[in-house]
Amino acid sequence: MRPFDYHRPETSNDALNLADEEAAFIGGGTNLLDLMKLEVMTPDQLVDINRLGLDQIDEVSGGIRIGATVRNSDLADDARIRRNWSVLSRALLAGASPQLRNRATTAGNLLQRTRCPYFQDIDAPCNKRVPGSGCAAIGGELRNHAVLGTSDHCIALHPSDMAVAMRALDAEVIVRDAGGGTRTTALVEFYRLPGDTPHIETTLTPGELITGVHLPVPAGDRQVYRKVRDRASYAFALVSTAAVLRMENGKIVSASLAFGGLGTMPWRNEEIEALLTGEAPSNALFDKAGEVLMKEAELREGLEFKKPLAQRVLKAVLTEATQ
Ligand code: SF4
Repeated sequence: MRPFDYHRPETSNDALNLADEEAAFIGGGTNLLDLMKLEVMTPDQLVDINRLGLDQIDEVSGGIRIGATVRNSDLADDARIRRNWSVLSRALLAGASPQLRNRATTAGNLLQRTRCPYFQDIDAPCNKRVPGSGCAAIGGELRNHAVLGTSDHCIALHPSDMAVAMRALDAEVIVRDAGGGTRTTALVEFYRLPGDTPHIETTLTPGELITGVHLPVPAGDRQVYRKVRDRASYAFALVSTAAVLRMENGKIVSASLAFGGLGTMPWRNEEIEALLTGEAPSNALFDKAGEVLMKEAELREGLEFKKPLAQRVLKAVLTEATQ
């Protein structure tokens, strides 16, 4: 591990003033410290954000605000989250291990890096780690890689379960800049597709700090999260689906769906949601939704299994949510 300076400020202003372009904010450090040991990330300063008072979950007008350093386990266990945003609680509990959830934070979970093995190997070419160096994954061994939102420069999978549920829940990321200004960005605008700059993963600019996440009141009361993985626990999703639905008089009147294990960012497909809305549930409808989901998937060798798996998971989730 390379040497670095460590700061533990007491206010957000101090944290922002300390953070230069080579600094990294640290909350739980469950991903960052691993990457520092591998020398994949080499910040010259760590700015600890655990004393900034960002560890609260507050009900606010029109929803709930989750502080940046709320631990994943505390968020999953919160009675309000379990009651009204249960898909988020389920997604969190499907991620990592209890020990990691006790440390990992809301902001850190949003910003966790891909687990592409070539990204973590500093001897392999990787456009995300070293822009312009190439992509060892394309043409390499593939299993936990993306089939949606990929580019010729990067096919890295977004690893988060929490962010998938948040995408289905129309989450907004609250960001503070060095001047003290605050902006709120929808999760869909927060993440960037890799394109030809896969090293730029979000719309955060250097020196900006995530202070929290806002979740609006959910549009649906039927919430399901299903994750398929190689092991029963402590494994990343091969495919996952978050569903937030509302039914009236036997018909789907609102559908919000997000997918993990498929995309370079937590994936959502509005065409599927439009297809389902106003319809009565049926196997034929759910099969059609699966076709729409995967019609633009790029199924490289080793990833072909994701198409039937994703379609079966979507069908099972929709069946459960509409029963
Ligand atoms: Fe790097 Fe992306 Fe290629 Fe993986 S898929 S080696 S992260 S450029």
